[in-house]
Amino acid sequence: MTPALNGHTTEELIALLAPLGVKPGLARRIQMAAVRRGALPDPAPDISPRTMARVREATAIPRLQRVGRAVSPADGFAKYAFRGAGPDVFETVLIPLLHRPEDPKSIVCVSSQAGCALGCVFCATGRMGFRRNLEAWEIVDQVVHVAADSPHRIGGVVFMGMGEPMLNLDAVLRAARILSEPCGLAVSGKSITICTAGIVPGIRRIAAEGSPYRLVVSLNHADPARRRALMPVEGAHPTAELMTALREYHAATGRRITLAWTMIDGENVADEDARRLGELVRGLPVKIDLIDVNDPSGRFRPPDRTGLDAFRDALRRHVGAPVARRYSGGADIRAACGMLAGDPDPDRGG
Ligand code: SF4
Repeated sequence: MTPALNGHTTEELIALLAPLGVKPGLARRIQMAAVRRGALPDPAPDISPRTMARVREATAIPRLQRVGRAVSPADGFAKYAFRGAGPDVFETVLIPLLHRPEDPKSIVCVSSQAGCALGCVFCATGRMGFRRNLEAWEIVDQVVHVAADSPHRIGGVVFMGMGEPMLNLDAVLRAARILSEPCGLAVSGKSITICTAGIVPGIRRIAAEGSPYRLVVSLNHADPARRRALMPVEGAHPTAELMTALREYHAATGRRITLAWTMIDGENVADEDARRLGELVRGLPVKIDLIDVNDPSGRFRPPDRTGLDAFRDALRRHVGAPVARRYSGGADIRAACGMLAGDPDPDRGG
């Protein structure tokens, strides 16, 4: 397969291009131009045209095709639909962070797979089933396209779009590295977040490699049987095994673990649910991100204001960890958490 210049780390490109007579300095310039502009560097007196001809012949700079874009008039979230190396459509969300008006920025929520095999019952991507893994360049180019359209600088990237990142971990870690490298997009590694539904070998690998990225685990229930009813992945990676991996992760990295909790009325927002979570995480420094479930079918609903407040209080009492409610915007354009279903929207919005 022809190597993609926008899909390899600096180190890989230096090794890949050396046999073509490319020195490390030029390999870095090639990476920067390929990732950021989708092109080779402009001709310059210190670049040999013959060397560049060899590079052009032996490599490629594939780009995504944007097949849809919608901007929410309600909150400015934007959703993009792309096609890459195959026919499947995958989506990316631009999240505006405007709470510090002196430093407005955007976060890009990327997909790591087209579809998802894990089948969480509250998630539109899960209902699609698995189509394929995305390649590293397809992940990187989502950020490049969306950054070009963003009115603000890109302050971070979250792997929370379509797919389970840890089931495509080689490409995800390569893409995260390219995004954070100085000759890639220079997004700080600490501002890159990888979210998982609880794939234990992936968590262990990230801990072993000392990756700088933030880890978010989508837990959603502390009772294994009830978690399994919401998230079939529980069958392959039971909660007990997941908690062992998270305790090892904390021991290896010293980091607090963020647990994402998609709030579903009648399922996981009772006092008893908070009490069980408190028992499960005792001694492990965690932080809890509460997210409203978004289910266009209407089968699952978030708690009302009273239910939310009661659950938040119960978490503070039983878990004693920081609790934040995460706003999951763009529901009106089906861009909110759990709503990505790979349908190309006609270009619309402002
Ligand atoms: S919530 Fe995440 S892991 Fe679960 S089905 Fe949806 S995309 Fe897959």
